[in-house]
Amino acid sequence: KITTQSTSAKPGKLVVFTGPSGVGKGTLLRRLLASHPELYLSTSATTRQPRPGEINGQHYYFVDRLAFEQMVAAGELLEWAEFAGNYYGTPMVPVQQQIQAGHWVVLEIELEGARQVQQTCPEALRIFILPPSLQELERRLRDRSQDSEAAIARRLQRARIEVEAADEFDIQIVNDDLDKALQQLEKALFGS
Ligand code: 5GP
Repeated sequence: KITTQSTSAKPGKLVVFTGPSGVGKGTLLRRLLASHPELYLSTSATTRQPRPGEINGQHYYFVDRLAFEQMVAAGELLEWAEFAGNYYGTPMVPVQQQIQAGHWVVLEIELEGARQVQQTCPEALRIFILPPSLQELERRLRDRSQDSEAAIARRLQRARIEVEAADEFDIQIVNDDLDKALQQLEKALFGS
């Protein structure tokens, strides 16, 4: 369990970012981090194969299923879930360290993981990024063309379930126009 009670005078905050695959969370987050380098983006572990250009330790820690299951068994993950046939999870220690040092930590995770964080860390700020429509989401997933047809179908099916859960979150932002979405996000986080 992550606790925001720490010996430092100003403990950090945990911010959870969720939204269906293809909604543009990654782009939005990169923009946010570019203007707020003080935010720490947690690096997840996954059993998914790296996409072209993805770097181990930077985009993800790419591990096999056995290594992932060992991390789960050892209680090393703050949350984890299976998504579209692969495991994804948040290593606990770096998040704890950053929060205790007073930094804000951002998790970019899917719905099941966000629900787990709600249980273990109810004070986290939870933000849901919505697509303008499911049709637009499908178009974005195909445009990205990083995934097979079967993977796209799995992601779309999951997207429908995720979008229905949007109102479980503290804040919902529709990513129609990137600049506008970023403005809303900054307002939600920093009040400006
Ligand atoms: P992708 O394969 O497109 O990189 O990620 C698929 C989904 O897994 C995305 O919705 C992403 O937010 C989510 N995800 C990435 N890392 C984690 C994690 O550590 N935990 C959970 N629960 N979901 C994650």
